[in-house]
Amino acid sequence: MVFEPFKKKIWLSSPTMHGEEIKWINDAFQKNWVTTAGDNITEIEHSAAQFIGCGYAVALSCGTAALHLSVRLAAEKLYGRTSPDKGALFGKKVFCTDMTFGATVNGVSYEDGQAVFIDTEPDTWNMSPTALERAFEIYPDVKIVMLAHLYGTPAKFDEIRAVCDKHGAVVIEDAAESMGALYKGRQTGSLGDYNIVSYNGNKIITGSSGGMFLTDSFEDAEKIRKWSTQSREAAPWYQHEEVGFNYRMSNMIAGIVRGQMPFLETHLAQKRAIYERYKEGFKGLPVSMNPFDEINSSPNYWLSCILIDKDAMCPQSRDGTKAQFTHQKGKSCPTEILETLAACNAEGRPIWKPMHMQPLYKDNAFVTAEENGVSVGEDIFERGLCLPSDNKMTPVEQDKIIQIVRSCFE
Ligand SMILES: *Cc1c(COP(=O)(O)O)cnc(C)c1O
Repeated sequence: MVFEPFKKKIWLSSPTMHGEEIKWINDAFQKNWVTTAGDNITEIEHSAAQFIGCGYAVALSCGTAALHLSVRLAAEKLYGRTSPDKGALFGKKVFCTDMTFGATVNGVSYEDGQAVFIDTEPDTWNMSPTALERAFEIYPDVKIVMLAHLYGTPAKFDEIRAVCDKHGAVVIEDAAESMGALYKGRQTGSLGDYNIVSYNGNKIITGSSGGMFLTDSFEDAEKIRKWSTQSREAAPWYQHEEVGFNYRMSNMIAGIVRGQMPFLETHLAQKRAIYERYKEGFKGLPVSMNPFDEINSSPNYWLSCILIDKDAMCPQSRDGTKAQFTHQKGKSCPTEILETLAACNAEGRPIWKPMHMQPLYKDNAFVTAEENGVSVGEDIFERGLCLPSDNKMTPVEQDKIIQIVRSCFE
């Protein structure tokens, strides 16, 4: 079946502005707080801390910066301050979520650490607590765990925490994709020892860019605030004892975030409705939706994904930077579905390619739950994909997306 392409592109997840945002940008403009300080920043730090349930929040230029400073701070507290020519993680390993966006891990590399990738579990597509336990058996000295909540679905946090407690390790929580998601009634972004969220353009609410560091520790918040503004000491001149970063959020960006924050609940409801419509629409197809723990968690449904049943996969190869497939009746594959969507002017996306499969990390260790080394993440990458999940997509448009996906299996 051939479909008429959408006249207006259907995006994976694009910014949804409401008009409030421009008010706060204008406010900053009129007060001439066109800098990395001002009312908008103060306000969103307050509202983020309150909403997420943390004592303190520090607004930064992006989630990646928040992750970088988190891992630097964790390392300094655990290992002491290193010499200025070495990263704070020099010679140290960090256990990291494997199937995630590269930004989760970049901070570890900035600080000269070595990421050890922990395989994914099939129930929530997040870090496997079993694989994590195995990793501690192999590398008992590791003290930092970098945990992401994929696509807005909370990880098995208590299990991860129990393993970390047993081995005296701290958790850095990458809640970049999961703002608004709940785990046992608590917001993600409040669960770790160091927590971050992102306001990147395609996240559930946005500032066009931006990120937030969250903590219950006053000292940690003050340290991050200082580092992010070039590490100036309290002195009448520019006095420096530590390396600084220019990572503070702009008050203009904070204005957009401030205008978006009241609409988070609306966005959550829209994303959830999209997930439910896909779930209903794919009944009878050999696919399943990205799973979550229905008893203990409530995702933010940032992206809706599907996983194709093993026996419904047509041949697909992804070598180097090329993807190919061979169509077979009754079967399909992510490449076929993504190409068909693209031809109809709709944007899907492959699952994040696991970090242990990236050329950048080809020499890094990777630990699976089973001793046989079979990777759950590799399998999800092979058979899964993200569907258009834009909250401005209408039910009629989404029905057409569902029909397009269905047609791939004909
Ligand atoms: C988007 C994202 C980040 C990075 O956030 P930025 O604000 O874009 O720097 C980090 N981790 C994950 C899992 C993300 O999806």
